[in-house]
Amino acid sequence: MEGFADLLVRPKSNIECSIILKTCYICNILLTVSAGKTNLTGSATPNGGVILSTSLLTKPDIELDLKNKEASSPVGIPLENFRNKVLELSNNKLYYPADPTSRNDAFVGGTLSTNASGFVPGQKGSTRYWVKEIEFLLPNGDLVEIKRGQYISDNGFFTLEYDSNSIQLPIPTYNRPKIKNASGLYSDKNGTIDLVDLIIGSEGILGMISSCQLGLAINPKSKLELFISLNSESEAIDFHDFLNNHLNQDLSQITAMEYFGYNSQNYMNHKEFLFSNENDVGIYLQIPIFNKSMDSKIEEWIQIFQSFNSNIDLDKIIVLNDPNNWKKFFEARHSIPDNALTKTQRLGGVSIITDTIVPKHNFRIYLEKVHERLNKSKIEYLLFGHLGDCHLHFHLIPNNKQEKESLEIYDYLIDLSLKLDGVYSAEHGTGKRKRNDFKKCYGVEAVEMVKKLKNTIDPNNYLNRGNLISYN
Ligand SMILES: Cc1cc2nc3c(=O)[nH]c(=O)nc-3n(C[C@H](O)[C@H](O)[C@H](O)COP(=O)(O)OP(=O)(O)OC[C@H]3O[C@@H](n4cnc5c(N)ncnc54)[C@H](O)[C@@H]3O)c2cc1C
Repeated sequence: MEGFADLLVRPKSNIECSIILKTCYICNILLTVSAGKTNLTGSATPNGGVILSTSLLTKPDIELDLKNKEASSPVGIPLENFRNKVLELSNNKLYYPADPTSRNDAFVGGTLSTNASGFVPGQKGSTRYWVKEIEFLLPNGDLVEIKRGQYISDNGFFTLEYDSNSIQLPIPTYNRPKIKNASGLYSDKNGTIDLVDLIIGSEGILGMISSCQLGLAINPKSKLELFISLNSESEAIDFHDFLNNHLNQDLSQITAMEYFGYNSQNYMNHKEFLFSNENDVGIYLQIPIFNKSMDSKIEEWIQIFQSFNSNIDLDKIIVLNDPNNWKKFFEARHSIPDNALTKTQRLGGVSIITDTIVPKHNFRIYLEKVHERLNKSKIEYLLFGHLGDCHLHFHLIPNNKQEKESLEIYDYLIDLSLKLDGVYSAEHGTGKRKRNDFKKCYGVEAVEMVKKLKNTIDPNNYLNRGNLISYN
């Protein structure tokens, strides 16, 4: 998405941020907050005015609170730096589990603002779960310190008390499905939410996060890394259902369940290492080991695979813990988007990566219908993603004559996911590109709710204008 701006500012402190926000608020100058710029939705793309880059908001240093399993972080550092520092400071005892693929480039503040998520299935895979505290600058530049549990909305409102007046912030009440979700502001139909939840995932429209305190998890002694190839997508879904039952509906006991589905092999380096049959699909599993030995864990998982399918071919299971195996797998996984992008560029088209999600009970039917629709077209595509959350990305690779049809298919996918109780975005968010999807998903009333809230604290809509809702 192309953008333009008149001025770039790189504040180094809260006070500088506050002055910039206050000035733009009073003078009605557009301001867009920009962090690692890895969003896929145009959310940090300005349309004039000021860009506030958070890249120099790198102080104070990260501090670990071992006892409470928390760490503070500035917002302007790459998420991976934070994750590595936590390991270093805690002597590898604690780690930060939210691990979006873009974590080397995305900043801590960007991941909070988009509620980014990674490989860990379930709630624990998303940023929101781990946010304990934030320092937050309102659009008028005023600073609020917010701890989880400290501010809960009352009767659908938060109240900002000033000496001479108070401002009532109406919170959205549209119905959000309880699945992995990055589609618009957090809401609650009874009007009761934690202020931290409202801000996380709000894509900068309610203010600017200037520092944070994040929860941490106990780092396992080691991890068993497995790759298994299965005969078909249907078998992969069966395995997902089986494992979910086996783990008492809590897949977050494993730290990754990733899927390499339709056509992925053709875009993957080292496919012959992972697959013996061209039509097979693959699942990568990461299993934390806290007490047991590696050998007994391997034994346990072989039994799990055998109770899933007593005839399972054990040769189709690869232990990736060996460094050579891991290197090949890592290269294979990372080559997929690269190769897909190269192919799109060669075809002269624009690739489309979907981010839809549906609840578990509708997962199979959703995939079947999307494959059916895509197969009617001649558009090249592949399927991969986060099987643990029933959240797979269809990556469409149209040529330059198929753009219109690929957009029609995108719309079909969005409509279908809504019909099946899902949402258009599980992790990438709405930004400017997916505003229409937000409207389709939650209705015009939801757009009005967001507008009402935004108007209360940012009447000129100067801050991150265009994200989630259009202006006017
Ligand atoms: C190759 C690739 C892989 C990706 N993989 C994943 C993935 O696995 N999981 C996932 O969830 N996403 C993924 N994404 C999407 C993207 O990386 C995430 O949305 C990420 O969290 C954005 O962070 P950022 O620092 O780049 O933010 P930016 O893109 O700079 O900004 C994103 C939004 O956050 C706002 N913002 C930034 N900082 C602040 C702040 N301090 N206060 C208030 N608002 C702020 C911006 O205004 C903008 O609205 C991927 C993207 C790419 C390109």
